Amino acid sequence: MDKPDPGQNAPAASNFIRGIIEHDLARGAYAGRRWRGAPGDAAAQAGAAPDPARVRTRFPPEPNGYLHIGHAKSICLNFGMAAAFGGACHMRFDDTNPTKEEQEYVDSILEAVRWLGFEWGDHLFYASDYFETLYRFAEAFVAHGLAYVDSLSPEQMRELRGTLTEPGRASPYRERPVADNLDLLRRMRAGEFPDGAHVLRLKIDMASPNINLRDPVIYRIRHAHHHRTGEAWCIYPMYDYTHCISDALENITHSLCTLEFEDHRPLYDWVLERLAEFGLLERPLPRQYEFARLNLTTVVLSKRKLIQLVEEGHVDGWDDPRMPTITGYRRRGYTPESIRLFAERIGVAKENSTIEHAILEECLREDLNARAPRAFAVLDPLRLVVDNWPEGSVEHCEAPAHPQRPELGTRVLPFSRELWIERDDFAEQPPKGFFRLFPGNLVRLKFAYVVKCTGCEKDAQGRVTAVHCELMPDSRSGTPGADAYKVKGTLHWVSAAHALAAPVRLYESLFTVANPGAGEADFRQQLNPASVNTLPAALLEPGLANALPEQRFQFERHGYFVADRVDSRPGAPVFNRAVTLRDSRGKGG
Ligand code: ATP
Ligand code: MG
Repeated sequence: MDKPDPGQNAPAASNFIRGIIEHDLARGAYAGRRWRGAPGDAAAQAGAAPDPARVRTRFPPEPNGYLHIGHAKSICLNFGMAAAFGGACHMRFDDTNPTKEEQEYVDSILEAVRWLGFEWGDHLFYASDYFETLYRFAEAFVAHGLAYVDSLSPEQMRELRGTLTEPGRASPYRERPVADNLDLLRRMRAGEFPDGAHVLRLKIDMASPNINLRDPVIYRIRHAHHHRTGEAWCIYPMYDYTHCISDALENITHSLCTLEFEDHRPLYDWVLERLAEFGLLERPLPRQYEFARLNLTTVVLSKRKLIQLVEEGHVDGWDDPRMPTITGYRRRGYTPESIRLFAERIGVAKENSTIEHAILEECLREDLNARAPRAFAVLDPLRLVVDNWPEGSVEHCEAPAHPQRPELGTRVLPFSRELWIERDDFAEQPPKGFFRLFPGNLVRLKFAYVVKCTGCEKDAQGRVTAVHCELMPDSRSGTPGADAYKVKGTLHWVSAAHALAAPVRLYESLFTVANPGAGEADFRQQLNPASVNTLPAALLEPGLANALPEQRFQFERHGYFVADRVDSRPGAPVFNRAVTLRDSRGKGG
């Protein structure tokens, strides 16, 4: 399909990761790797051949929530780098915590990544598939005297851990003999102990200035059902231990993560170096690189907070169009192209910063301005009567679907004696500079005729109930001489007899502040009570009855709208405004 790719003309933003990969490829850092196939596949391992992928990255979500726009940045980076260098990006679920993870989240994550336009092919992995290998490696650490079973309570362990300024102190169990450690670890696995009775710790350095190296816990006891392994395990490996090994098993070259993992990198390297020394992993080993996470104004991007919004009923589910989840943006009307353009434009940096939400909105406008069909929609209707048009007579005016793209075809706008216009397109007493309808003034009804306002009707309260006008018969758009009328105002309109009445939802930010939850604030106290305004029956040009779910339009003068993918029915669409036509913030309300 000839879709314009808004990313093509975007300036390539800075991306230091690209530089690292280029450098590694140039020096052949990973040239000698052998591809062992899917981890655990013994047959593939025996016949190991050179790895066909020059670069391997991975996107490793924990299936404990829906993905948000911050994850989209990571997805675009990981899949984007793999694609740019002829590599592969692995989709890997980091599912080591049985109590918070669910299949619903797995499904939603896969759907979101695919919707963004990325494919993992046969590279779909689960950390839980490595549980057996991870355990075998843990026994190896014990056997080499580099791991021990600790039986302190979590509080006692915390006390001995030290602080940023004070070194930690050794647990009394640190010098347990290897044989005792092995025996206890096997009994932990066999289910002999209750939750919390013991943990397995690496034996690194209790005096290290890096707290992550002070004998980190790598296994804990959890008698819990796991969404994939069921009841097979009652001990579960910790993230730091699992992640680096998963990367190595999958032949990852560049493990890209957010800056908060910088202090964990020495542990990542320590674990893999030791396993390579034991002969359990082959070199070259994967390397971790950190980039700044995305922070965005007017939204919260913490899974914990997003779960609260859903569970406490502040929004209507994960895909509420006000949510910063990928599924929320999708339902709101965002395109995958606009989100990829955004990721490209903000770039990848080493320094944390907060990006204005307006930048994301602008990416959507750019994308949709280029390709969304135009349509007329009257959101706040006022009746306009064309007094010199015969009752019952209908004329079919033709309008382009898109002003710059004739290949998108045309649409038909029935014109009749009674029309709907926007209430604020009429003023009985026009303020200075008002060029729309007021008694005596001429305007063009777009793609139809020039009309002259002759007056209005009002109810007992003085509210205008209808406007009257007279049509200039020789002013029909597209006919010779039509341009002789010099008018300053052009209005959209819909024939009253033909209009489609449909619900239209107008959204504002979910929060009233730029940085919800900043400082001591409770983000739930900063919710915007007016974040959605549902118009039960906006009046739309009749062709919109055929709008398909997820079809996007520019409603002229109102913004970009999408037919809601959940609430629309055949012939009865419901529209969401994705974004206004221009950024109205900063204009003093
Ligand atoms: P959790 O607190 O549950 O770990 P998380 O947001 O880190 O939350 P993960 O599922 O671990 O969720 O994230 C998957 C990947 O997405 C990780 O590599 C993480 O670094 C990246 N990621 C998460 N949030 C952002 C963000 N705001 N910007 C960029 N990348 C992010
Ligand atoms: Mg995480």
